[in-house]
Amino acid sequence: MAKDHSFAAKVARSTSKGQRNCPVCGGPIQTIRLVTSEISPRNAYRFNQKMVNVCKCNSKEIYG
Ligand SMILES: [Zn+2]
Repeated sequence: MAKDHSFAAKVARSTSKGQRNCPVCGGPIQTIRLVTSEISPRNAYRFNQKMVNVCKCNSKEIYG
């Protein structure tokens, strides 16, 4: 019993520390750096970088 309790406490700590879960799908949220390129009106490539949170809700949109 004591072992089970400490194990559960350990898991709870590690999950609250690093991993976040989506309130909608309940899956883990990963933060990734998304780089998109677009052509500006002057015909030059422009790269946009942004950090996005990816979970099951939007992974299809992000990864295609
Ligand atoms: Zn989600």
